Amino acid sequence: MRDLLGGVARFQQKAFPRLRSRFEQLARGQQPDALFITCSDSRVDPTLITNCRPGELFVISNAGNIVGSHDQADLGVAATIEYAVKELEVSQIIVCGHSRCGAMGGLLDPQATSSLPRVSEWVATAKEALVDATSNIPNDRLAQLIQANVRLQLRNLMTFPEVAEAVEARRLVLKGWVYDFVTGSVEVLSTDTNKFAPPTSHQG
Ligand SMILES: [Zn+2]
Repeated sequence: MRDLLGGVARFQQKAFPRLRSRFEQLARGQQPDALFITCSDSRVDPTLITNCRPGELFVISNAGNIVGSHDQADLGVAATIEYAVKELEVSQIIVCGHSRCGAMGGLLDPQATSSLPRVSEWVATAKEALVDATSNIPNDRLAQLIQANVRLQLRNLMTFPEVAEAVEARRLVLKGWVYDFVTGSVEVLSTDTNKFAPPTSHQG
């Protein structure tokens, strides 16, 4: 078993002294710019891939970066969105799917999660995304599903009254990303084409 407390001791010795003043400043309150909704997958590290510092990202992680619609959302997800939008007033919400997502693999192949009833039930809440996963090639089908799930969760976010209101008032922008942990690249959903492509400089 990995010695995580040993890791904490090394953090306290090495990283924390460099961050001490940052955390002292953050003790007065947090003002994260973004709510980042991504998968619990250990290969996806929101702070690392966005080059953010502590205090800059408010994060929801769950299996498959699933939001659900407002009337059916998980209470923890709904509460965290409500807090991020109404209290922290984040200016952007990013739904970030990722390559080789096991949760999306489970949605594509229910046999793979047949011994995991709660996982099956959870990923099935995103089954609407399956209609866009049409390729005959399994890897391509999974990639299509990962993208379709990001689009679906962005639509689900708009069913939250506080999100829709802030978007309409132009206080909030919703963004869809897919991160490939093998290459470190991110593809961004274009609102014009509804397709994913490498980011252009003006997308921020
Ligand atoms: Zn995943």
